[in-house]
Amino acid sequence: MQLVILGAPGVGKGTQAKRLQDRFKILHISTGDILRDAVRGGKELGKTAKGYMDRGELVPDDVIIGIIRDRIARPDCANGFILDGFPRTIPQAEALESILAEMHLNLDAVLEICIDPEKMVERLANRRVCRNCGAVFNLITYPPPADGKCPKCGGEIIQRDDDKDETVRNRLAVYEKLTAPLKRFYAKKGLLKTINGDDTIENVYEKILKKIGPDFQ
Ligand code: AMP
Repeated sequence: MQLVILGAPGVGKGTQAKRLQDRFKILHISTGDILRDAVRGGKELGKTAKGYMDRGELVPDDVIIGIIRDRIARPDCANGFILDGFPRTIPQAEALESILAEMHLNLDAVLEICIDPEKMVERLANRRVCRNCGAVFNLITYPPPADGKCPKCGGEIIQRDDDKDETVRNRLAVYEKLTAPLKRFYAKKGLLKTINGDDTIENVYEKILKKIGPDFQ
């Protein structure tokens, strides 16, 4: 099964993608996580990406497309994958089509989670993540422990630099300009399934399962 999960920053794509990974035994691939790992590890890729990420801009298409091409060819993707944060531009979506065609694969669905834009800003302002394992918390709806340590791995819980106010506004503007056109791109192909994300994590997940349809239940 090959899925894409779309949605502006802060809609809860990563949280839902992790659930779908466990449910369908497919690999959750987050380009944001891959880039953050590369920055942490001091890799060349991280050095290229960091400036773009800090400004809330997109890393150049050719860099990201290369990452995805390599990643989905690995054996742990043999049962399928869910792409979170990719594609983010029309050229990335077109490249994904060619990569999948070369591998004799199709996309089964593109899930779009949408919420009210004001809520996105609020969610991002309240989002905290584990620096080590990427677990996600929210100061209001799912507060991290008072000691600031991740209950899953003991890592330090932090606010992502790009979740700070200035960068957030830019990320949302970039989403509207470059990524939102993907909705039409995938709608035309009959793949787009839109889910209202203004709900609990559990309810959004149930709605996604319904949209994916009985073939995959
Ligand atoms: P995310 O965790 O998905 O919000 O991604 C964090 C940042 O990584 C983005 O603001 C971009 O700078 C960069 N990034 C992640 N995925 C992509 C992509 N598909 N294309 C370009 N830049 C990306």
